[in-house]
Amino acid sequence: MRKRIIAGNWKMYKKMGEAKAFIAEVKGRLPITAKVEMVICPPSPYLSELVNESEGTSLKIGAQTMHDVEEGAFTGEVSPSMLADMNVEYVILGHSERRQYFNETDESVNKKVHAAFAHQLTPIVCVGESLEEREEGKTVERVSSQVEKAFNGISADQAKAAIIAYEPIWAIGTGKTATSEDANEVCKEIRQEISKLYDESTAAAVRIQYGGSVKPENIAELLSMEHIDGALVGGASLVADSFLKLVELA
Ligand code: PEP
Repeated sequence: MRKRIIAGNWKMYKKMGEAKAFIAEVKGRLPITAKVEMVICPPSPYLSELVNESEGTSLKIGAQTMHDVEEGAFTGEVSPSMLADMNVEYVILGHSERRQYFNETDESVNKKVHAAFAHQLTPIVCVGESLEEREEGKTVERVSSQVEKAFNGISADQAKAAIIAYEPIWAIGTGKTATSEDANEVCKEIRQEISKLYDESTAAAVRIQYGGSVKPENIAELLSMEHIDGALVGGASLVADSFLKLVELA
């Protein structure tokens, strides 16, 4: 049985006071032992503070990106060892906005997946097709290739612990959601790709989230699908009420 996981990607939103108020509100209303894994990925300047604020609760903190090397002359970057040092537990890798605006490639994502595991960070590896690729019938080809490249050289045990987020680019922040059947179909193909790369037990263990305009109104239907184990949520994770609603509905 795969544990469901709801992760909030705050992108470049909120001030420190708002971020702390969110955690305080969620903390006060959290079940002590949650059956759902909950992660908030705030902007990097807030990571340390929010790890401290959420300590002792079932709410975990993740980063939105990182570099793949320990340290060096990489102005503006955050290293995997810095995240580990702050007790951050998850890291989103290869989000389509990072691929689009910050030149992340399948190869750099792969290096980061290796670096995440080397520092005991759980990677949330994002894959997804553009609208053009979907219209040309290339969704499965695109997504399978992203998975294959991201997991190059990663062991089966590591792959089992990874999280893959299927996020069709055309559904992110647009209000357009893939139908639950379409999302499930692609998640099933991702699982098959993992089975091809490793074996069936690895494929059965890996958790696959759907992301793209998930909100309280559509999460139950998406999560009723066999291959969807959770959601990576942008906009709807910014408000404590709706984040908690998503967790409750999961
Ligand atoms: C995201 O940022 O990964 C995302 C899916 O955003 P939204 O939920 O706003 O579409």
